[in-house]
Amino acid sequence: MKRYLIAGNWKMNKTTGEAIELAQKLVESLKDVNDRDILICPPFTALYSVYQVIKGTNIKLGAQDVFYENSGAFTGEISPIMLKDVGCEYVIIGHSERRHIIGETDELINKKIKAAINNGLKTILCVGELLEEREAGKTLEVVKTQIEKGLNGVSKEEMKNVVIAYEPVWAIGTGKTAKPEDAQEVHAYIRELLSKLYSKEIADETIIQYGGSVKASNIDSLMAMPDIDGALVGGASLVAEEFTRIVKFIKQ
Ligand code: PEP
Repeated sequence: MKRYLIAGNWKMNKTTGEAIELAQKLVESLKDVNDRDILICPPFTALYSVYQVIKGTNIKLGAQDVFYENSGAFTGEISPIMLKDVGCEYVIIGHSERRHIIGETDELINKKIKAAINNGLKTILCVGELLEEREAGKTLEVVKTQIEKGLNGVSKEEMKNVVIAYEPVWAIGTGKTAKPEDAQEVHAYIRELLSKLYSKEIADETIIQYGGSVKASNIDSLMAMPDIDGALVGGASLVAEEFTRIVKFIKQ
């Protein structure tokens, strides 16, 4: 039975006080949800404080990025050990904003994935095409390259700790959501690719989330697709009432 993973990516939003307040509201509004996994990913500065609010509840903590070394002269970076230390179970890696604004490459993303897994973190590898790539018919090719390079050297055993998030870049923060059928086509392709790279069993067990302007009004139609196993939610995860409806699949 599929167990959905619904994750909120707070991006560069919320001061510590605001983050604590949002986490407190979510603990209350989501306390009865036990049939799916719930994850929130605040900015680094709020991780420790948010963990104090959610520890022992059904809400898990994730970070939005990580570096690939455990310590050393890497000014401004945060290591996997540091994330574990403040209560993180998950980390998002290769988000499109890091690929396209910061300039992260598939090779860098791969190093981060391996370091995170080696340190016992579950990783969410984000993949997805730009609008021009979709229009040029290159969606599947782009996603294939990002997955093959991102997971290079990741073993079958380690795949237990990998989630894939398919996030078409043109749908992120734009209000344009992929049609459920179009998202499903890419998700099915990703599952088939994982089956070839690993095994059918691993492909079937891997959570493949959809991300890109997910809201309460579209969550149920997306989650009804056979190969969509959850959502990575940006903007709509910043408001407790909206994220609660998304987690519970309540269309208003
Ligand atoms: C995201 O941050 O991964 C995302 C999908 O953002 P939004 O939901 O705002 O499009």
